[in-house]
Amino acid sequence: MKKQIATIGLEMHCEFKSNSKVFSSAKNTYSETPNSSIAPLDMAFPGTLPVVNKKCVEDALKVSIALNCTQPKYMFFDRKNYYYPDLPKGYQITQMTNPVGINGKIDIEVNGKLIPVYIHDVHLEEDSASLDHFFDTSNIDYNRSGVPLFELVTEPCFHSAEEAGAFIEHMIRVYRYLGVSDADTKKGQIRCDVNVSIADEDSEELGTKVEMKNVNSIGGVIGAINYEIERQTKLKEEGRYSEVEQETRRWDEETASTIRMRSKVDAIDYKYFVEPNIPKYKISEEWIEEIKTNIPRLHLERKQDYVNNYGLSSYDAEILVKEKAIADYFEECLSLHIDAKSAANWIITQILGYINKNNSNINELYLTPKRLKDLIAELDKGTISSKQAREIFIKVIEEKKEVRDFISKDNAQLSDKEELTKIIDEILANNQSQIEEYKNGRTNIFDYFVGLVMKQTRGKANPVLTKEILTEKLK
Ligand code: ADP
Ligand code: MG
Repeated sequence: MKKQIATIGLEMHCEFKSNSKVFSSAKNTYSETPNSSIAPLDMAFPGTLPVVNKKCVEDALKVSIALNCTQPKYMFFDRKNYYYPDLPKGYQITQMTNPVGINGKIDIEVNGKLIPVYIHDVHLEEDSASLDHFFDTSNIDYNRSGVPLFELVTEPCFHSAEEAGAFIEHMIRVYRYLGVSDADTKKGQIRCDVNVSIADEDSEELGTKVEMKNVNSIGGVIGAINYEIERQTKLKEEGRYSEVEQETRRWDEETASTIRMRSKVDAIDYKYFVEPNIPKYKISEEWIEEIKTNIPRLHLERKQDYVNNYGLSSYDAEILVKEKAIADYFEECLSLHIDAKSAANWIITQILGYINKNNSNINELYLTPKRLKDLIAELDKGTISSKQAREIFIKVIEEKKEVRDFISKDNAQLSDKEELTKIIDEILANNQSQIEEYKNGRTNIFDYFVGLVMKQTRGKANPVLTKEILTEKLK
């Protein structure tokens, strides 16, 4: 059999955050209490009409622009008609003919290499209610009904589970950087339909695609793709490729396999038509321009900047761009002319360590970049040791004071060369026999001398300077 190449396309759903739902005034909050956040429209009560949430359209345009899509001149919606208990209206308001973005393209990083991802379209729609299945009943929770849902459809442009997984991670970060969604997979805010096919390496045509619906974790997407590639390849090897059907399957976490749900040979006719209750809304160029000014630099661009222009390792840069707030903090340090590497070190080792341990937020950290600058300056001057700097770091945060409040003559590091030389001379004068031993080859006595200096100065001697003077004296 010829070498097989896998092809994958994703339909990725992301729940947007907003004050109210996309077409009703109910609060858009994730709630554990069923039916606590609903309006009559979300249950399709007669006489209710949708009103478009402008903020959701704006956020959808924001992502559309960030993904280099082409935006339409007008915003309008379509009805996708089908019945299901979680869809009380009997149709979903979505965008089919005129999506909020088409033909996008971005680069993502996979294992240190950039690959292009082509976006077929992005569109704004409403989420359905959710069904909770119990032993002998199923209950409907309308909280999710009408939550703004943003769907991104990629071209079949991925060739491994790794690439698809990297894209989802990339997009989660884009959504967070743009502030349009928390993109929390644990809350079901990111859900993917995963399409997988295989074909001979040199084939012009793609193979038959199998779709896995509603996979709600990155691990699940990766698992489903790898399982499908293996399953389809095995069938082909056995000469049974015709058994790979256009079908819908689901990813089963427990057995780590995909399970057939239904055939997809005949496309369902959803009888789409333009949603008549929502008038066309003009998307002016001014509006697009205004939205553009609110799009921050995204994580990959920042990472490349830190590596190429500030000499950071890609490992460190990656940590800094994990969250926008951290990257922003780092960039504020740069704008205060703190040395990039030293800022990165402080953030990665001390600040992230502190906020993780204390479950706090870098935005609320009392040690602002300005205060970090003060701290690093004292350290560079040699007024304090790195151990003292780490202690002052904690004190500034916990006592909400300035760095200088903790720099007294008392705890200042002894960095005065003359003074330190005097102390060292005295110590050496009292340890003649040890000097003898040292000169006879017991070099570990050096540390003994350092210890004596530290003892004498109650740990305040600048260690680097101490070693320098001692080396000189013991030549
Ligand atoms: P459908 O009409 O079944 O919804 P689409 O052409 O709209 O199919 O594509 C849906 C998704 O499937 C897209 O993400 C697309 O990239 C992906 N896709 C299409 N054809 C293939 C294929 N042969 N193999 C893998 N993915 C595919
Ligand atoms: Mg489709």
